[in-house]
Amino acid sequence: MLKIDMHTHIIPKHMPNWTEKFGYGKFIHLVHNEDKTADMMQGGQFFRRIKENCWNEEMRIQEYAQFDTQVQVVCTIPVMFSYWAKTEDCLALSEFLNDHIAELVSKYPKNYIGLATIPMQDTEAAIQELERAKNIGLVGIQIGSNINDENLSEDKYFPIFEACERLGMAVMIHPWQMMGFDSMKKYWLPWLVGMPAETSRAACSMIFGGVLERLPNLRICFSHAGGSFLPTLGRIEHGFNCRPDLVAVDNPINPREYIGKFWVDSITHDIDALKYILNMQGSKRVCLGSDYPFPLGDLEIGKFIEDSDLSEETIEDIFCHSTLEWLNLKKEMFL
Ligand SMILES: [Zn+2]
Repeated sequence: MLKIDMHTHIIPKHMPNWTEKFGYGKFIHLVHNEDKTADMMQGGQFFRRIKENCWNEEMRIQEYAQFDTQVQVVCTIPVMFSYWAKTEDCLALSEFLNDHIAELVSKYPKNYIGLATIPMQDTEAAIQELERAKNIGLVGIQIGSNINDENLSEDKYFPIFEACERLGMAVMIHPWQMMGFDSMKKYWLPWLVGMPAETSRAACSMIFGGVLERLPNLRICFSHAGGSFLPTLGRIEHGFNCRPDLVAVDNPINPREYIGKFWVDSITHDIDALKYILNMQGSKRVCLGSDYPFPLGDLEIGKFIEDSDLSEETIEDIFCHSTLEWLNLKKEMFL
């Protein structure tokens, strides 16, 4: 069975020190250690230690082979988005990261599929890089759940989504710059509580703001099984019904109508939660994802799904058909 992991992160082994190059800001650069790990430095400050499988393309293919997974959809690490930077600098950084992924994809077309990053803070530059990304062989973009704390329903982002629909570029929404980050640092809460809420914020904004309504052919996937969006849909729908004056101000359609019209990944770490998501979305709208190579990810690449009592047909939808449809790719390309 073809297995495609559609949610994995990668970073080039060598990058300029952007903070020095641009003369400001807290851009990420890598300091490599003797034990083959590297420290991600944010400006001059330590951010996170990462392992070789964050950049070593051969090692990644071998690690994936242990879990019978042939294909990885790769995108950058969200902290690289740098939407806070000057447009021209974020554009240069995005081009660098996208060129790296495009090169990887052309070198290993049966093992890697690429998603781009674009400078969302500037509509024109974002569309320019989106078009270029398509031309160099990337099939979609990964963007943050908010852009400098603004919701994705803001008018200025609409032309970008419109361009994605027109160009047939898929969109993956990934939580980042989590709400409440500074006030709940203890217990890893930004990752455990903030991330699922961020994804729900993105889904609610795009639905209530009418983005999904106006762009029915836009192919969107929300990370981490849609975060808290699907598990709290009852509450969200009830809010829509009882306070339309607050909720239904830009789109009169019930949010439940959009279930099954977007994709989510399978990163739940809980088979019952996954079954709940499958019940709502249908198996053709749930994709195998892992968040490899990070510790919060499903680092056995869907083993909990293989070990479950789900039908082979359902598992095959999750493992490849859903992702192929989301990215508009053919199975034969990977066989
Ligand atoms: Zn991720």
